[in-house]
Amino acid sequence: MTRVAIVTGGASGIGGAISRRLAADGAAVAVFDINGEAAAAAAAEICAEGGKAAGFAVDVADRTAVETGVAQVGSELGSPSILVNCAGITVSGPFLELDIDTWNRVLATNLTSAFHCCQVVLPEMVAAGWGRIVNISSSSTHSGVPGMAAYVSSKSGMIGLTKVLALEFGRSGITVNTIPPGFIETPMMRGALDNGVFDLDRQVANTPVGRIGRPEDIAATCAFLTSEDAGYITGQVIGVNGGRNT
Ligand code: NAP
Repeated sequence: MTRVAIVTGGASGIGGAISRRLAADGAAVAVFDINGEAAAAAAAEICAEGGKAAGFAVDVADRTAVETGVAQVGSELGSPSILVNCAGITVSGPFLELDIDTWNRVLATNLTSAFHCCQVVLPEMVAAGWGRIVNISSSSTHSGVPGMAAYVSSKSGMIGLTKVLALEFGRSGITVNTIPPGFIETPMMRGALDNGVFDLDRQVANTPVGRIGRPEDIAATCAFLTSEDAGYITGQVIGVNGGRNT
């Protein structure tokens, strides 16, 4: 049976690796990304490798766009039973200089987006009696990071949302888990390194396995959590961080 998976932020970095991995494992993947061209290119790459995928231009902070996108997935690929909420942005700066528009934008993109996507997709999962949701949080929630109040708050909210949905939907055959990634080499992280928010050598030195993470490390965990075999795992925070934050 071909499962249909929606991966938000699926055109780049961690979401890109998750899209490729779920497709390689046999899912039809709907790549949701604010950048429609990048979503189409990511889907085309999957199709060129023999997988099934389609790209959709969806701003996941926009409820109407999410509803439209999910409806398109239904008609083009079929009813989604896997949802990975991975879209995210990061903004850094001193807390006293954090303006309300920036706060709202980060919360809308990183947390309210998951509220929208879960609320739109869950009724179909309930009707099917099977579903898998993975919310991508962040290891920054374990310790906090100076200058990242909006980001860390949004990612902490993902953990709370995960736990509540796991309790509400467990009896419907739906699992909901969260992965807080550690330090992963992606375009987002490259930007933070270039801006001096993080120092690469220090991050590697602080990581027990002695390297920074790859998007594929997160994709592998996501593939397991969305598989049939993971049906008894729900409401969990599965750290993938090279041994930090244990
Ligand atoms: P990335 O390479 O920047 O990928 C994020 C993707 O989300 C981009 O394609 C981005 O599009 C898209 N996106 C942004 N806003 C969106 C919106 N409103 N609607 C739909 N798509 C949107 O970042 P990444 O490092 O792979 O991060 C993926 C997730 O992992 C994020 O939630 C991030 O917070 C989390 N995370 C990353 C790390 C890390 O070390 N990299 C660590 C912990 C958590 P544009 O590029 O066009 O903006």
